[in-house]
Amino acid sequence: MLKVHQIPVLSDNYIYLLHDTDTEQTAVVDPAVAEPVLEALQSLDLSLNYILNTHHHSDHIGGNLKLKAATACQVVGAESDKKRIPLIDITLKEGDVFQLGSEAATIIETDGHTIGHIAFWFKNAEALFCGDTLFAMGCGRLFEGSAEQMWQSLNKLTALPTNTQIYCTHEYTEANGRFALTIEPKNADLKFRMQQVKAQRAQGLATVPFSLAEELATNPFLRAESSSSFAEIRTKKDNFNG
Ligand SMILES: [Zn+2]
Repeated sequence: MLKVHQIPVLSDNYIYLLHDTDTEQTAVVDPAVAEPVLEALQSLDLSLNYILNTHHHSDHIGGNLKLKAATACQVVGAESDKKRIPLIDITLKEGDVFQLGSEAATIIETDGHTIGHIAFWFKNAEALFCGDTLFAMGCGRLFEGSAEQMWQSLNKLTALPTNTQIYCTHEYTEANGRFALTIEPKNADLKFRMQQVKAQRAQGLATVPFSLAEELATNPFLRAESSSSFAEIRTKKDNFNG
């Protein structure tokens, strides 16, 4: 069984510690920093086998060097971005399967936010680790890819089972929801979700993970009818100060 421990770091990042209870194999997803991961490993009495990097941005790979030095773990990332992932050992591409003990993750290439971005889909655990591609009621900024590429990437994710739990790397939900309401002010599911999110955030609770079903009902980027209307919404979001 896959157990997921969520570690909030920096202003709005989440690091995930994944633990296969059958084999004790352990991985960390997108360690922005090393210390909180080392502390969690110690308090949970786990030893780190892998770092899984979704992409090369510093708030996703910042802990690679220290963690590898401290644990001798292996670094896993995209074949197409291997030059930008520090200390990479295992390279993966679309459709490859990464095995964390008895839990298998299928690799989904999700270019858009960067070129060489990947997501890890643990089918049996119904969990997706998607880095900065899909956020609650939002999606990643287009730093390197085109709107068309991001649209294709998001379409791969929306094809997954709707009960998939989505673990993205940032707590951007409340700001994303404020923008989403400007696109779909009459969406009852969206209004309801925002009430819940505001209450959760007021108590300092995480709004991540969330289900794909919730996203399909409330995320304007996924609900766009075409790549060109997706591109329009993305541009509006880039200029939104809410
Ligand atoms: Zn990023």
